[in-house]
Amino acid sequence: MRNDTIWDREVETETHTLAFARASAAWEKQFRHLVDHSSFYQRKFRDAGITRANLTLNEIARLPFSTKDELKGAIDEKPPFGSNLCVAPEMVKRVYQTSGTTGAPSVLALTRADMEMWTTVGTRTYFATGIHEDNSVLTTFGAGPFVAGHTHFVLSRIGCRSVPVAPGDTDRVIFGLKAGLADTLLSTPSFAQYLANKPEMAGSKGMQLTHIVTGGEPGGGIPAIRDHIQDALDVTVTEVMGIGDVAPSLFGECPQQQGMHFCGGGHVWVELVDPDSREPMTIEAGAVGELVYTHLTREAMPVVRFLGGDIVRIEGSPCECGRATFRMRVIGRRDDMFIVRGVNVYPSAILAVVGRFRPRVTGRARIVRTTAEVSVTPPVPVEVEVVDGHDADVKLRSEIEEAIHSTLIFRAKVDLIPEHSFGDSGYKTRLTRNPLSPQGRGQGRGQGRGA
Ligand SMILES: [Zn+2]
Repeated sequence: MRNDTIWDREVETETHTLAFARASAAWEKQFRHLVDHSSFYQRKFRDAGITRANLTLNEIARLPFSTKDELKGAIDEKPPFGSNLCVAPEMVKRVYQTSGTTGAPSVLALTRADMEMWTTVGTRTYFATGIHEDNSVLTTFGAGPFVAGHTHFVLSRIGCRSVPVAPGDTDRVIFGLKAGLADTLLSTPSFAQYLANKPEMAGSKGMQLTHIVTGGEPGGGIPAIRDHIQDALDVTVTEVMGIGDVAPSLFGECPQQQGMHFCGGGHVWVELVDPDSREPMTIEAGAVGELVYTHLTREAMPVVRFLGGDIVRIEGSPCECGRATFRMRVIGRRDDMFIVRGVNVYPSAILAVVGRFRPRVTGRARIVRTTAEVSVTPPVPVEVEVVDGHDADVKLRSEIEEAIHSTLIFRAKVDLIPEHSFGDSGYKTRLTRNPLSPQGRGQGRGQGRGA
């Protein structure tokens, strides 16, 4: 049994100078690997006028960004693994698929070393949330084909007890929790909220549950959602986040509950850029920007300056837990952002308002976008999930509209949708619904959220 509450103390507590030196040394090799083996990045670098054999980590901002669409294009160009496969195909030992929410699924190929890297980083992440060897963890993250399944290797590495349940098997989750099989639950915040709203979960004898780790979508970090789950189930909620193309679990929140620590030291380099101009920003408390990821050790399908699409706020460091790594909270997905009279709005702001109307509402809501325009002219259409029987509640509707107006300073047109027709019964909630696009809108996250 370990006594340390930090999995990889050397890496997770080192100063920025040491972390930079560690990353620089790894990057030197990685850059050569890319130049020698990735026809995808060779072309991108050449197009950007970079023809040198060396480029230091200090100069990384000179390299072009890469996007999910480009990585998909690389796969289409040379199936099945793409023009960005940097190893011989026989070196690929594990393949995950994306959910294909925005088109045909694509694949993520891993070498044995890549699998080990994902497990190392994931282990730091989940260990940071407080899952240790003596815990018993009921996980609703399926074993495959999605990257969230990699969590099973992570739980094994930590050495905790693992109680796997298929995603969406609510009956078995409730059985497992009531039978006292687990003290920790891994689930999406939507599912945790769904459980919290179930009357049969309240005050169950024999329940050992004390901790829920949410992932796959934002929510565990939104106070209105977190507080409700914590109060209703008498648990502590912490959250994790990853990106399928980078590492399925890369950020983990410690019990201080002040944002998720970066856990990819030595394997992933993170930059923060201005969401509009994409100019580099300093990672410091209070900064709000988009995270950009570069692999330092990935062999099969490395990414360079990958735009992850998550807009985050950097929280203060250092942390009382002892980790020196930066902490952040996700504000929203770039894809979900819209603009009302010149002000950027993320659906999470609306969730925070809607959550005040429990128990008449469930806590879930989404924005309806009827055009491809980022600018939305008020009233903004919002669908709010309500407990069955409340969908004709005119008073509730106007109360929510009034609360959105007074808190967010724009008018909304609220539609109350009963639980049975809101869809996705408690698994994952898309924060935007676009009736023009039957596939829904872009996704890109690890931990069950498509990847
Ligand atoms: Zn901490």
